[in-house]
Order: sequence, then C-alpha cells, then structure tokens
Amino acid sequence: MKIAIFSTHQYDQDYFNEFNTGHEITYYILPLNEQTAVLAVGFNAICIFVNDVVSESVLAILNANGVKLIVLRCAGFNNVNVKAANELGIPVLRVPAYSPEAVAEHAMALILTLNRKTHKAYNRVREGNFSLEKLMGFNLHNRKVAVIGTGNIGKAFCNILKGFGCKISAYDIYPDTELVAQGVSYGTLEQTLADADIISLHCPLMDNTHHLINKQTLKLLKKGAMLINTSRGGLINTVDVIEALKDCQLGYLGLDVYEQEGKLFFHDYSEDVIPDELITRLISFPNVLITSHQGFFTKEAMEQIATITFGNIDAFARGEELVNRVSS
Ligand code: NAD
Repeated sequence: MKIAIFSTHQYDQDYFNEFNTGHEITYYILPLNEQTAVLAVGFNAICIFVNDVVSESVLAILNANGVKLIVLRCAGFNNVNVKAANELGIPVLRVPAYSPEAVAEHAMALILTLNRKTHKAYNRVREGNFSLEKLMGFNLHNRKVAVIGTGNIGKAFCNILKGFGCKISAYDIYPDTELVAQGVSYGTLEQTLADADIISLHCPLMDNTHHLINKQTLKLLKKGAMLINTSRGGLINTVDVIEALKDCQLGYLGLDVYEQEGKLFFHDYSEDVIPDELITRLISFPNVLITSHQGFFTKEAMEQIATITFGNIDAFARGEELVNRVSS
C-alpha cells in the first residue's frame, strides 16, 4: 500500500524502515491537520501520532482524496473523530498496547525525580556544590498511591508500586479483579483522590474524563500531594492546577503530557520565545517536572509500535479481520 506517515522524526523513520513489510512509504515531518491534509493525495493510508488532528473537516479532505485507512501509531485516539471516520467507511486502527511498562516506568521516574530531586542534585554536583539543603525527600515505602485507570499501563504501574512497598488505591469504571486479589483497594474517584499521597493518571481522555482534575477535585487532595500525568494533557485543567500549586494545595506536579502540547512537544524552542504562557508559568515552579511526551519512548515500545502498525496495515490490505479497529 502507499502510506503517508505524518509527524515523523528520524527515530520514527528508522523503526518504520526496519519493520516495513513491503509498503511504499512517504514520511512527512509536518503534522496532519486541515492545512496539511492535502499531502495525503494519492495515498491509500495515512499513519498518524498523538498530536495529529483528524477532525470532520480533515476527514472530508482525506476521503475526497481516496484515503481508505487511518492507522494510529499510538494507543490513545482522542485526536480522531472516529464516528465521522466510520460513517465515511474509513477504518481507524490503533496500537492498543505496546510495552505498557515503558509508560509505567516513566511515571515512576517522574515520581522519583520529583521526590528525591536527582535533577537538582545532578546540576549542583556538576557545579561543585555538595550541599544537601532543600533536597530532602520522603520514603515511598508505605505511602498511599492512587492509580486512576488500571488498564494496561495502570496495572503495570501497580506492579512497580508493589515493589516499592506502596499502599495502592485505585479508581476505574471496570475494577481489575486480579489487582483486587493482590490487595489493591478500589473506591470512588473522590475517595481515591482524597486518600492519597501520590495520584497517577492512567485513564484515557474522553468527554467524561476531560478536566477530571479541576478546581473542585484538587480541593479533595491531601495538602501537598503529588500529581503525575502520563496519560493525556486534557485530563487536567492547567489553570486550576497552577492555582493549586500557588497556594501549596498541590505539593508536586509531574507531567509527561500537556493540554496544549500539540504546538510545543517534539519541537526545539531553545532559541525561540515559547509560544505558551501556561507552560512557562508551570516551568517556573521548583516542584514541577515536565517531560515532552516521552513515556512511550523506549526501544522495546518503538519496535512493538512499528510491528503492530504494519500488522494492522497488512490485515487491512489482505481483507482480514481488523482486531485493532477503534469503534466510535
Ligand atoms: P487501557 O485502555 O488499557 O486502560 C485504560 C483504563 O482506563 C481502563 O481500565 C478503563 O476501564 C479505564 N477508564 C476508562 N474510562 C475511565 C473513567 N472515566 N474513569 C476511570 N477509568 C476509566 O489504556 P492504557 O494502554 O493503559 O493507556 C492509558 C492511557 O495512557 C491512554 O489512553 C493514553 O492516553 C496514555 N498513553 C500515554 C503514553 C505516553 O507516552 N505518555 C503512551 C501510551 C499511552
């Protein structure tokens, strides 16, 4: 098939070239949106990532230009109007699970860094400053961690937490019986948030999870709690979180995702003015740590993403059952 792959970097191209099962690929650095959708002319399929936008108007352009398939090289699909795609008969396929441990381990990396301040210690020691002032952390052992969403990634994260001796509480619309048997206690969202020293978000972004963390829910947290988001930026109301950081209701914030990340993440603004006031405010807090959507970024995950994506394309090309199709 002729496939246009949007929002690519060299590392995407390396893995897609290595695992290509014989398709004709064109790589675009540009993201897919209303302005760039015309680049899909002449392709049977397009392959997109987390910040590409497939709205109804983009779909109309794709459809008019003969695109028959949309493959996401990620798990989340909040950036695609799946209902409209299905109505046009364009299947949307995704990579539902690829190394959930990659993201779960990154969530733990954010916790450990925020808590033990290794990023600050690294810089201090390089400058010959061996002082421990303001580097004190807390033991994770016996701390209560709330896991919101216990699917593939949330479950892998629970397994890591067990190794650290944490007490785990969870909220999910479908509690996991295996985790319950292992001692994870499920409660309502309110109970789970109120009871925890650390809250880590692992549920998908949907209409009913949009701004799950907001002015009201932030008030429920223990004063000084740590909030970690490696799922999707839209789960958090950024303005409300900034207020909670200012009045110390929130003690630490670790983000791998950000609501307005589309125009920032995966780009180098080191010599430019950052075009986003909220993220510059967030960066100014000493107890905020932000990484730019790198939770998935391990060799193992990249291999699985490429393999499963080509598996999805091959299944479509052969007219086989589309097991990774997203239903609206
Ligand atoms: P998953 O589908 O396996 O699990 C999601 C869980 O959330 C399920 O158990 C589901 O029941 C639960 N859920 C759904 N609606 C909920 C609600 N309203 N409240 C509470 N729980 C709810 O997905 P996953 O593979 O574990 O991925 C989770 C999210 O992580 C994805 O949606 C994606 O946005 C994000 N993600 C981020 C990265 C990254 O690089 N940072 C990489 C992959 C995935």
